[in-house]
Amino acid sequence: MINTSNDILKIENLSKIYHTKESEILAIKDLNLNIKEGDFIAIVGPSGCGKTTLLSILCKLEKESEGTITYPKKDLTFGYMLQEDTLFPWLNILDKTYGLKDFIYKYPSNLSGGMRQRVALIRTLAISPDILLLDEPFSALDYQNRLKVSDDVWNIIKKEKKTTIMITHDIAEAISTADKVIVLTERPSKVKNIYNIEMKDKGSPIHNRNQIEFQDYYEKIWKDIDIND
Ligand code: ADP
Ligand code: MG
Repeated sequence: MINTSNDILKIENLSKIYHTKESEILAIKDLNLNIKEGDFIAIVGPSGCGKTTLLSILCKLEKESEGTITYPKKDLTFGYMLQEDTLFPWLNILDKTYGLKDFIYKYPSNLSGGMRQRVALIRTLAISPDILLLDEPFSALDYQNRLKVSDDVWNIIKKEKKTTIMITHDIAEAISTADKVIVLTERPSKVKNIYNIEMKDKGSPIHNRNQIEFQDYYEKIWKDIDIND
């Protein structure tokens, strides 16, 4: 039997159907996944396959149609960082812990995209959630910034030892940032493959991109989500 003692989340036979006026959309079908405490999970999959739906169900913004989600820990809390920039423009930034000192008196509209993402993350962490859900957190940033900010964010998450589930459509970002990459199928999504990202000299995302094992994972995952295959 599989040892599930440190599972923080257990998803069994999860399905989700959206009912609209015109039709029914089967977004998720028979998805199974266990998440362990402290895991940094990246979820990749084709656009529209049901990734955001999955996160919304996990934190109970949406209701599952079938299946069970077990939360072994009592009163589990989630921090959800949505894909869009959800900072309120009138909100002042008061955190001093993560290199934001110089920005205390600036308002979000004065911040660069990268800094806004850092602030959004820190605000999400401020409620001390048990699990952090990140929905394509860096997709609005240009390449250079994305690398830099994902390194920063990774450092913060590791320091806080937070269980994290991050959605991304960037395979390189998934491999370089996460401990485990879950590949979903096309809609209706279920788990297609799971990769434990092991590297002899594993470190921060920028560092990991230059490791010998990186390319091999990249090719495998690329094949997994190549819809013409
Ligand atoms: P992803 O995040 O992987 O791009 P989503 O989870 O947002 O995909 O969507 C999965 C499918 O479910 C899509 O076909 C989308 O149009 C549909 N969908 C998502 N949210 C709703 C909703 N509230 N009502 C109806 N259909 C929805
Ligand atoms: Mg989405």
